[in-house]
Amino acid sequence: MKVLVINCGSSSLKYQVLNMTSETLLAKGLVERIGIEGSAITHEKIGLEEKFKLVTPMESHKEAIEHVIKALTDSEHGVINSLNDIGAVGHRVVHAGEKYANSVLIDDNVIAALEECIELAPLHNPPNILGIKACMELMPKTPMVAVFDTAFHQTMPPEAYIYALPYKYYEKYKIRRYGFHGTSHKYVAERTADMLGVNLNDLKIITCHLGNGASVTAIKRGKCIETSMGFTPLEGLVMGTRSGDLDPSIVSFIRDKEGIHLHDVIDVLNKESGVLGISGVSSDFRDLDIAVEEGNERASLAIKVFAHKVRFYIGAYIAEMNGVDAIVFTAGVGENSANMRSVICAELGNLGIKLDLVKNKVRGKETIISRDDSRVAILLIPTNEELMIARDTYKITR
Ligand code: ADP
Repeated sequence: MKVLVINCGSSSLKYQVLNMTSETLLAKGLVERIGIEGSAITHEKIGLEEKFKLVTPMESHKEAIEHVIKALTDSEHGVINSLNDIGAVGHRVVHAGEKYANSVLIDDNVIAALEECIELAPLHNPPNILGIKACMELMPKTPMVAVFDTAFHQTMPPEAYIYALPYKYYEKYKIRRYGFHGTSHKYVAERTADMLGVNLNDLKIITCHLGNGASVTAIKRGKCIETSMGFTPLEGLVMGTRSGDLDPSIVSFIRDKEGIHLHDVIDVLNKESGVLGISGVSSDFRDLDIAVEEGNERASLAIKVFAHKVRFYIGAYIAEMNGVDAIVFTAGVGENSANMRSVICAELGNLGIKLDLVKNKVRGKETIISRDDSRVAILLIPTNEELMIARDTYKITR
C-alpha cells in the first residue's frame, strides 16, 4: 500500500509518498509560497537525478495539493498511475490538546476537535486543518489519518504537566504542559531500542531533538514522562530564535521599559531571542561556528548557553528517571554538529556519560558515538517523522 504524507504549514506544504509494504520512500517534495507571489513546487522522484520544479500561482492549499497530485502522476517524475494508487493519507497535526493520545482516523468529529484546539496552536492547527480539508475534497474516498505532535507526550504524569498556577486555569482553559516534536522523540526512542538490541520497555532514554526548534524528552519504558516544551513550543531549551525558559516577570518588565505591547514582547521571545538574540549573528548554528572561529565572543557565549541548557535538562531527567541508559541526539543541530554534541557531553563523565571524540566526527547517520567504557550509550539518530506518520497511517487504515 502507498501512503501520502502531508505536512501543511501556513504558506508551505511538505509531502512524501512511501510504499509501506517495504517502507521505502518513492517521492518527496515541497510547495512554497502558497497564496504569495512566486508559488513553486519542487518534486523529487527517488532514484531520478533531476528534480522537477514549477513556479506557478497557487492561491490556496487545495491548488497546492492539485499540483502535488499532478507531479505524483506525471509520466516522467510520477510514482503512481492515478490517485486510486494512494491507499491512505497521513497528516501531521501539531496540537490535539488532551483529546488524542494516539493517531486517529479522520472524520467530522476529529476535524471539530482539531478546530477546538486552534486557540492552543493558532499558527499551526489552521493550516493543518486546511490541508486535511483540501485532501478530503480531492480524494473523497481515501481514508485520512491525523498524527499529532502532542500525542506521545500525553503519558506524562500530572506532576510533570500541571503548572503551579491556580488550578482553575487548568480546569477552565486547559493551561498545562503539552510538549511538541512527539513524533520525532517517539521515532528515535524506538530506533534506540533497535540499535541497542534491547526492549524499549527496559530502557530509560533522554532524547534531544535539537533543530531550529529544540526539545528534550525523558522516556521511561517507552513512555514520555517529561518534556521541555510546555503549553506552547516557547518553553524549555534555548532555540534558534526562541528564548526558552525565563522568569515570567521579564515579559512585563520589557513591555514597560520598551513601551511596546505584550504581544510584541512575545514576538521578541519567539523570533528575536535564542542563539540569534544572544549572538546577534544568526539563528543558524553553522553561522555561529564560523563566527566563533573568527573570534566572535557573543557567538561563543550563545553556543555555551545553548549547551548549558541541554545539560541542565539532561541532569534533571536523569534525576526524574533515577538513571539513564541512552542519550540520543537528533534534528538539524543534533545530527550535524559534532561540536555541539561534544560541548554538551564534555563534563558528564561522572554520570557515566562518555562521548568518543573520534566516533563523534560524523553527521546525519545512525551510529553509536559513546566510548566503549561509557555506562550510558550516546546515539546519533536522524529523525524521520514522515516515516512515523506513514506507519501510523498504514496501521490504522490497513
Ligand atoms: P526545524 O525542523 O526545527 O526547522 P531542523 O531540524 O531542520 O530544524 O534544523 C535546522 C538547524 O540545524 C539549522 O538552523 C542549523 O542551525 C542546524 N544545522 C544544520 N546543519 C548543520 C551543521 N552542519 N552544523 C551545525 N548546525 C547545523
